Amino acid sequence: MDENVKESIEMTRELGKSCFFNSDGDEEKRKLGLELLLEAVKKKDPEASFLIGRLILGGKLTTSDKDPADRAVSLVCFAANHGYMRARTFLNLYCEARYHAEVGKNFPPQEGPLTDFEGKPIKIDRRGVFTPVDAVLKYENGKNVLTLSTTLDFCYLDSDMENKEILEQAVIDGIMDWEGEYEVFGGQKLTVRILLSLDSNMFDHITVLPVTENLIDAMHSVNKVLVTEKQKERAEILIDKKRSFAFLGFKWSVNSRKTIFLKSKSGRFDDYDEMKHVAKHEFGHALGLGDLYESMVDSLPGVSRGTYAELDGYAVGHKDYNLVMCDHNGPISNNDIEMVVLAFSENEMQLYQPEQVKGRISTALGKGN
Ligand SMILES: [Zn+2]
Repeated sequence: MDENVKESIEMTRELGKSCFFNSDGDEEKRKLGLELLLEAVKKKDPEASFLIGRLILGGKLTTSDKDPADRAVSLVCFAANHGYMRARTFLNLYCEARYHAEVGKNFPPQEGPLTDFEGKPIKIDRRGVFTPVDAVLKYENGKNVLTLSTTLDFCYLDSDMENKEILEQAVIDGIMDWEGEYEVFGGQKLTVRILLSLDSNMFDHITVLPVTENLIDAMHSVNKVLVTEKQKERAEILIDKKRSFAFLGFKWSVNSRKTIFLKSKSGRFDDYDEMKHVAKHEFGHALGLGDLYESMVDSLPGVSRGTYAELDGYAVGHKDYNLVMCDHNGPISNNDIEMVVLAFSENEMQLYQPEQVKGRISTALGKGN
């Protein structure tokens, strides 16, 4: 955006804020402030979008929308996805609160080793030189702990590529985001730990390939040897869109090779936040999760709001969710971790929606946690 245009939008918003929030009972001043803020929203200002969204959610502003909360959440979501950090924090807390209000209360906390929906103990011990991500579930000191460990092998086609340090740190931090305390299978606490190493060895790693011009050229030549039209079509789309994706072999399994193709919008790999969030999403694929978003190109129908109670708290649109496998900026939910547990215990990819050849819809969905 033109710097002058940007500046004028910022001025509109700042003036709007000052009039609206410091009106001291002056109704005209407040009205003028609101008009200016709405003007800034129209011009796609993230902060103004956040402020208006919050005012609607707080009941301080009424709208003619059929569902004012929906409109408000989409405004906050827009702000969050355009780099306004306060909106991101607010949106994540808002979704989590809604999730707990809708489904969390149904599950009293449970003690003891982790069990599945039928009450059967879950065992995970996936280790060895042919498992790119090792997964071990242990019950220790009264706690269920799932440890996921992997080695990252950064593979550079351009030896003089700049910003390697930013890229590597972003990928590491995005993957480490999966660590945390979760509640799965009906209120059972589970701690997820991630162990990362950077020692390259033959088999036991996740390859991270930055999608650079050199890589694109190389892949175009590989593409000439792909046999079927369908393979070609798919490869063309992935390469030409230069988007990030994870390659998990023909079919994801604990043993399948895992490669993350990492794109950078600017092509310079200098946007830490962008790469961190993309790496977080792609690592979800390495852990056996499918995509949650709707996509015509990939023949993904999407998941309509109201289909699964455990996703609804995170809904920010008809088929949009503030969740990592839908929008890479989104958080990781209890349900996502439940699906990771099932992926590694059943050795089967866990899908949110039907996908070609990949597998079946996860049994974690529709259970309300
Ligand atoms: Zn994806």
